[in-house]
Amino acid sequence: MKPILSIKGLAKTYASGHQALKGVDLDIRRGEIFALLGPNGAGKTTLIGAVCGLVRATGGTIEVDGVDVRADWRGARARIGLVPQELATDMFEHVAHTVAFSRGLFGKPKDPAVVERILKSLSLWDKRDAKIMALSGGMKRRVLIAKALAHEPDILFLDEPTAGVDVELRRDMWEMIGKLRDQGVTIILTTHYIEEAEEMADRIGVIDKGQLILVEEKAELLGRLGKQEAIVGLT
Ligand code: ATP
Repeated sequence: MKPILSIKGLAKTYASGHQALKGVDLDIRRGEIFALLGPNGAGKTTLIGAVCGLVRATGGTIEVDGVDVRADWRGARARIGLVPQELATDMFEHVAHTVAFSRGLFGKPKDPAVVERILKSLSLWDKRDAKIMALSGGMKRRVLIAKALAHEPDILFLDEPTAGVDVELRRDMWEMIGKLRDQGVTIILTTHYIEEAEEMADRIGVIDKGQLILVEEKAELLGRLGKQEAIVGLT
């Protein structure tokens, strides 16, 4: 089957001269959960930014479901939902309204039934009229996911979805991400946590200093290295 996301020779040199990506090749399969592991500064956020059109690549090509990002940025972006690292959202907004608004940003028709379905799938329906600022940290994260799903993308990027959250909330997020995959969304998440990749991913990629140094089926990787060695080897 054709990959849903195809990245070839992706390079990014910032104006400072720093080479954040040095020729990354990566194909993402439709329906998989792909975990991209890497230390601080490895290039994870730059890679996501390039795919989402937030960072202008200095080399290489990106195709989202056959759509070239450079030729049709909007067309490619419409297929992608992005959950950023920071909890940046309008805290004074109400939950359902902010999701409907995000949908509108992509030129999608107002469709209360879609918003309802998304909120229900994230157990946010009871909170639909709540102000975001009144929600717990876990619920705020769910709102960010709901916003990212508002325009019904095929691919969901989660940039360090559980950075700085407690163990219970991390498990909660993992369960939710698993449910989204069961609904057919292809998921790419970046993480510093090997446990997160172990728990969630079908395949694991490791990026370091702007280079993808390994891509492997999770089962094969853990089978080959054993859990402890994998942890030592990857982090
Ligand atoms: P983290 O896990 O800390 O979020 P990361 O793997 O997401 O790190 P990036 O944020 O992609 O890494 O950064 C990759 C490298 O590019 C880092 O060395 C970073 O300092 C550098 N970098 C990122 N953004 C810029 C920028 N706008 N200008 C110059 N250098 C940048």
